[in-house]
Amino acid sequence: MDKFDVIVIGMGPGGEAAAGRLLDAGRRVAVIERELIGGECAYWACIPSKTLLRGPEARAEAGRAAGVATPALDWAGLRDYRDYMIRHLDDTAQISGYEQAGATVIKGAARIAGPGKVEVGGQLLEAGHIVIATGSQPLRPAIDGLDQVTVWTNREATTVRDIPSRVLLIGGSAVGVELGQFYARMGAQVTIVQRAGTLIDREDPRVGELAAQALAADGITVRTGRAPVRARPAGDGTVVTLDDGSQIETDVVILGLNRAGVQLDQGGAIPVDERCRAGDGLWAVGDVTGVALFTHVAMYQGRVAADNILGRDRAAAYQGIPRVVFADPEIAAVGLTAAQAAARGISTATAEISLADAIARPWTYERDPRGTLGLLADRDRGVLAGAWAVAPLASEWIHQAALAIRAQIPISVLLDQVAQFPTYSEAYLTALERLGLSTRSA
Ligand SMILES: Cc1cc2nc3c(=O)[nH]c(=O)nc-3n(C[C@H](O)[C@H](O)[C@H](O)COP(=O)(O)OP(=O)(O)OC[C@H]3O[C@@H](n4cnc5c(N)ncnc54)[C@H](O)[C@@H]3O)c2cc1C
Repeated sequence: MDKFDVIVIGMGPGGEAAAGRLLDAGRRVAVIERELIGGECAYWACIPSKTLLRGPEARAEAGRAAGVATPALDWAGLRDYRDYMIRHLDDTAQISGYEQAGATVIKGAARIAGPGKVEVGGQLLEAGHIVIATGSQPLRPAIDGLDQVTVWTNREATTVRDIPSRVLLIGGSAVGVELGQFYARMGAQVTIVQRAGTLIDREDPRVGELAAQALAADGITVRTGRAPVRARPAGDGTVVTLDDGSQIETDVVILGLNRAGVQLDQGGAIPVDERCRAGDGLWAVGDVTGVALFTHVAMYQGRVAADNILGRDRAAAYQGIPRVVFADPEIAAVGLTAAQAAARGISTATAEISLADAIARPWTYERDPRGTLGLLADRDRGVLAGAWAVAPLASEWIHQAALAIRAQIPISVLLDQVAQFPTYSEAYLTALERLGLSTRSA
């Protein structure tokens, strides 16, 4: 039996972060991956989707900036660059990279065979620590006839070669909104059906409203508060019936639903403590923990688990984790929603500002400037509890609120902090003043 200090099962961002840190510290590490090193994120999720969105986004930006002719889209060029970015679905370089770093790389589906024991391809391995980083699976909704029509998950949707004419997205979360905007901007007729009353329902309802407005401007039909109940083939396409009896004709149904954390035996998310410990010598990181299904969280947990394995006691803190939908304009949020704060009995103050009314950057950036910022403060503690923005570049400037929330920076200090003129970051000052807590501090 081969013996290691640590066995990492699943080499997506969570597994990679853990393995990299453990190898750097000189540990004997085996990494096991049943598909491609890099995981869902690198080949079928974050990387291809953000790459595909950028071309249409740049085109739309040029249309909004003064004095620029709108450039043409080049699907073949964008598709080639997407293929380059997903390494043509080839992880040969990653395998040799890990081998050179000292890891034993094993391709195959692993199974826990007992405490400290892992079985893969008939081979039994043993280690003091096992890190499970096996990711999540797309949820398949219970819709009559779905198995008889063309259905894509994120995999087909992000490796697409020919843009379909009509697309129906089931689910209006981050994945549904991003893919919906991409396909619409590439010329498809897009409908998004969302069971919840608003899009991106993990956020404040106002965020969903603003997202729906942005998608409507791209010609996307958004049906919230509705669920598909039946699907049937019709000619070359599909007809999907919703729970109000209305019907949508489409060429392809794309599942844009939230994903489910699934463990090795398909048993659901693995509960972990704040150190990412799942049991004695057993650790879990990333989507499989169900904590927050993001790459940055998977990598963070990978670092936390590795540090604990290395004897550097470390607890994870999730208060300042940003949540971004890479639509245009970008949708970014951090901390609590108003409903979550109310459920915790926090006394709050809120502010919402239109960026065009408050600061100069939106006007220098584009004609007909867009953007809204919302803040949520804890009145008693004099700190920010949450923030959201639907605005250009919001994925970048949300990090100020993220740090303020994580470090509990008093609002009195935030009010005294100066942002570069003219930037989107200046909006925080106006919004903070609008909270009406200016004389309080923690
Ligand atoms: C379309 C789309 C876009 C997204 N965009 C973003 C984004 O922009 N930003 C963001 O933060 N997040 C994004 N996400 C979410 C992000 O992809 C995940 O949160 C992230 O991939 C989780 O990393 P992970 O390491 O937990 O799992 P994964 O990336 O899923 O990797 C898990 C790995 O484990 C392997 N594995 C599973 N079981 C076994 C087994 N038994 N034996 C061996 N190997 C196994 C799998 O093959 C896989 O390679 C997006 C998701 C989707 C679907």
